[in-house]
Amino acid sequence: MKLSTGIVRRVDELGRIVIPKEMRRSLGIDQKDPIEISIEGSSIILQKYENRCVFCGALKPAIRHNGKLMCSKCLKEINKKLEDK
Ligand SMILES: [Zn+2]
Repeated sequence: MKLSTGIVRRVDELGRIVIPKEMRRSLGIDQKDPIEISIEGSSIILQKYENRCVFCGALKPAIRHNGKLMCSKCLKEINKKLEDK
């Protein structure tokens, strides 16, 4: 979902842009947090990079799907639930 904020920031001489404090706060982005940069058409997308399973929080998740990470244990559990139906 795209939400226009009307906020305009200028790129500095080193190519940096400051992400507004309110945005960082509402998305839980802290200092030194890794941000993944991707491109969609002519847009640059900045996403909090989380190297954890979205379901159980396990580190080193094995599978990436639609930009989300999942560990093999959760994947197995989901597969099992689907099989049981
Ligand atoms: Zn998991």
